[in-house]
Amino acid sequence: MDLSIVIPLLNEEESLPELCDWIKRVCDANNFSYEVILIDDGSTDDSWEVLQKLRTENPHLKGIKFQRNYGKSAALNEGFRAAHGDVIITMDADLQDSPDEIPELRKMLLDGHYDIVSGWKKVRYDNTVTKNIPSKFFNAVTRSVSNIKLHDFNCGLKAYHKKVVKGIEVYGEMHRYIPVLAKWAGFKRIGEKVVEHRARKYGVTKFGWERFVNGFLDLLSIQFISRFGKKPMHFFGLLGM
Ligand code: UDP
Ligand code: MG
Repeated sequence: MDLSIVIPLLNEEESLPELCDWIKRVCDANNFSYEVILIDDGSTDDSWEVLQKLRTENPHLKGIKFQRNYGKSAALNEGFRAAHGDVIITMDADLQDSPDEIPELRKMLLDGHYDIVSGWKKVRYDNTVTKNIPSKFFNAVTRSVSNIKLHDFNCGLKAYHKKVVKGIEVYGEMHRYIPVLAKWAGFKRIGEKVVEHRARKYGVTKFGWERFVNGFLDLLSIQFISRFGKKPMHFFGLLGM
């Protein structure tokens, strides 16, 4: 199979029909053999019912349902476990990521022999104050801690070689740092492609203010493991033990 498209979703009932149609158009036009794995992360709206209905008309769609909300990282992780494609594309369900980017991301990954090609939302359509400024800060710190030269670590649109998604475990809030997890696992060929970003058409963002706290705590873990992961005795040395 050429492609697995992995999509985490929480309460995205309005977006799903348009998103699935659009992906089908792009994949059919490129003659891909593919599957779309949609992980319902505990939706309380009719997302799962909408998916069931779409599945009756589109055999490429596969659904996984969580009984409660476990978070985007857990949803991606389950999608990665289930994927069969040689290339795995992740994208958000809310139509902020364009399926038109899929063929180019795949081509760049394969032609450039990359482990990951990460999207870069160079022009963003989010609220500037609450998203763009904190995001610039997180990206700058993550870049300096990890030494990976990406502008947009948390972009939902990424392409992975199959061996990468089968070789990493994404948990907690670590979806923001998947390139860092991949680098630790030995996958160092990480490329970047500018991708189109779109305003949210339906529904609302699922990440409120708590994302700053959670994101920051994970940043501390990342920094801790980066600094002391290979030399734990240095940390205990700092503690005087
Ligand atoms: N999402 C999820 N579980 C969560 C939160 C979000 O599966 O606990 C999904 C959401 O439905 C969307 C993607 O993750 O497909 C990105 O979320 P959102 O668009 O709310 O984030 P933003 O674009 O505002 O950063
Ligand atoms: Mg979004």
